[in-house]
Amino acid sequence: MSDTVGAVPCLHDAHGRQVRYLRLSVTDRCNLRCLYCRSNARTQSIPHANVLRYEEMLRLVGIAVRLGVRKIRLTGGEPFARKGFIDFLERLRSGFPSVDIRITSNGTILEEYVPRLRYLGIGAVNLSLDSFRPETFARITGREVLSDVLRALDALLAAGIRVKINAVALRGINDGDLGDFFHFIREHPVDVRFIEFMPMGSDTCWSEDNFWAADDVLAAAGAYGQLEAVARGDDEAGPARMFHVSGARGRFGVITPLTNHFCASCNRLRITSDGWLRTCLFADREYYLRGILRHPDLGDANVRNVIEAANLKQPLCVEILRARGSGAVAHKQMLGIGG
Ligand code: SAM
Repeated sequence: MSDTVGAVPCLHDAHGRQVRYLRLSVTDRCNLRCLYCRSNARTQSIPHANVLRYEEMLRLVGIAVRLGVRKIRLTGGEPFARKGFIDFLERLRSGFPSVDIRITSNGTILEEYVPRLRYLGIGAVNLSLDSFRPETFARITGREVLSDVLRALDALLAAGIRVKINAVALRGINDGDLGDFFHFIREHPVDVRFIEFMPMGSDTCWSEDNFWAADDVLAAAGAYGQLEAVARGDDEAGPARMFHVSGARGRFGVITPLTNHFCASCNRLRITSDGWLRTCLFADREYYLRGILRHPDLGDANVRNVIEAANLKQPLCVEILRARGSGAVAHKQMLGIGG
């Protein structure tokens, strides 16, 4: 259902949540092989013909904006790995000047684009960086490209672009690295967020042994600085629980999709690069927008109707988690959804 809040249109779900945020995956291809992001089994990439063209993505964004979406995060796969991504960003910016555009990237091939990101007024970049140690980084991502990510990070900060670092919390893998992250935020105005490892998709390496719960991360973090909780209501925090750290320019936080789900405040929709709408990260029910977009007799109103109807059926993640038992929280791997 869409309504207006003041003069601004707004998409509501059946639980009273307002949707203002779209995560759009521009590709499921990635130049890294992060162990948390994909199944151990070989999986096929989405065939090119099924990947939405940039024009189709722009059309979808237009529909979403008319429904009240105000923030768009471009994700993947690795968004910068898709040809023409920076030109797409430019078209997005000129078509939707008031939308807050953000990007989630692994940072490996981003550095050269920083001047254009700045010129385009990209609000913030989330960088995935699970370790500052070359061996641990390579163990997690499958590639020895940490120095490329660090150069991109420096370039973003030098350009004045807000950066958040996302690290997946992996017990036995990067749990000895907290000191490096605290060292970093002492010097830099960056939010570091440790995300609980989610078992997304079948046959991933998730196990009780490598799951490092946020409370345990915070307990370990206490050794590196005094943490003071940031008051709720900080828009920049999103689903993260953030903490000021004494003497640091940056902040530290955790994202707790498994141990303390932030379902009640969820305000987002996801669209995959092959044009499926996903209303909840953990719910495998998806809605086929690509078919409507490409149907000669259907138009924007039909897409809009599906988005509104799907949004009304948006489930509560907490219920999915409760029913999960010990298996995966969703069938699709993260690579195909975009986080
Ligand atoms: N390639 C980009 C990147 O590396 O940031 C964007 C795609 S990646 C799927 C988006 C986010 O999902 C990253 O921050 C990554 O750390 C997170 N992620 C992927 N798999 C995850 C999992 N199983 N549990 C928790 N976070 C995960």
